[in-house]
Amino acid sequence: MGQEEVDVLRRRLAALDQEVVRQLNERLGLRAALRALGADPPPLSRAEARQALLRENPGPASAAAVEAVLDALDGADAPREGVSRPWPHIGRVPGAPDRGVVAGPTRIGGGEVRLVAGPCAVESEAQLDAVAARLVRLGVRLMRGGAYKPRTSPYTFQGLGREGLDLLHAAGRAHGLGIVTEVVDPRDVPYAAERADVLQIGTRNMYNYELLKEVGQTGRPILLKRGFMATLDEFLYAAEYLATQGAADIVLCERGIRTFEKATRNTLDISAIPLLKLETGLPVLVDVSHAAGRRDLAVPLARAALAAGADGIMVEAHPCPARALSDNSQQLDLDELDGFVGAVFGAGPR
Ligand code: PEP
Ligand code: MN
Repeated sequence: MGQEEVDVLRRRLAALDQEVVRQLNERLGLRAALRALGADPPPLSRAEARQALLRENPGPASAAAVEAVLDALDGADAPREGVSRPWPHIGRVPGAPDRGVVAGPTRIGGGEVRLVAGPCAVESEAQLDAVAARLVRLGVRLMRGGAYKPRTSPYTFQGLGREGLDLLHAAGRAHGLGIVTEVVDPRDVPYAAERADVLQIGTRNMYNYELLKEVGQTGRPILLKRGFMATLDEFLYAAEYLATQGAADIVLCERGIRTFEKATRNTLDISAIPLLKLETGLPVLVDVSHAAGRRDLAVPLARAALAAGADGIMVEAHPCPARALSDNSQQLDLDELDGFVGAVFGAGPR
């Protein structure tokens, strides 16, 4: 083989390498375009896609070599250099804007900052009416309230169940508010999905993958709370579980994690807010009530959360916290809620 022939082959090889890099970028562009349209490109880690490509491999590349390339292609979508981020559905496509989530009569995120307020637990029609009327007066669009209360002690109030969901639904309709409520059992999900605008998954259930799958299939917006012992990776995997079931509208909620500190019920992880927003385009809400466990910290924690980039705040409010059936040291009374909204949101939208 003459030197000339060697040079020709080398040049062809170099051109082929350039072509591979060009195709890699074209592929990334196509995947980003699909995501921008709200359609998720299937990851090559999916068994069917992988098997088909391996069957079509004419050789002499080994199956292992082809698999290594497919793994690298999946990793090429990662938002950060050198680190493969395994969140193909919820990971932020580099440069993509924040995603807003339509929640009942309003939107959370995508530039809009919202307050979700209401009692810890649904207790009665009169209680919900009093809270809802005040929320409307304050311009708040989303009311929370638990019909299922996953309490630490089995001897405390466990919630009104389906009756509570009916009460929430009626109050939401009567006052024009969107309803956010927690589900704890996959069997109750369809009933709740018909009555609530946003389904909440609580801190204790973030790891309940069967519940995540069920809720992920409802098509409803979902507010996913961070497990109180969960790392951010685990939290994002839980969101990914929802997304793999078809959930497109996911709101992440930081609600404090367990640390050695006892002065607050949990420790609000402020750095989670910008980190979650860097990793995903999803809205991030901060629950200041469960984070602190004390009403006197609600305003400063909410201000800190918004300063760190949160897309909204959750706070508990009750007509008479002293008589509340759960979380009475952290719920605001309705006048305190007025003060809270003024101090945190001023004259702006909420
Ligand atoms: C709640 O929001 O009602 C609740 C129980 O919160 P968490 O799951 O964060 O404790
Ligand atoms: Mn509570």
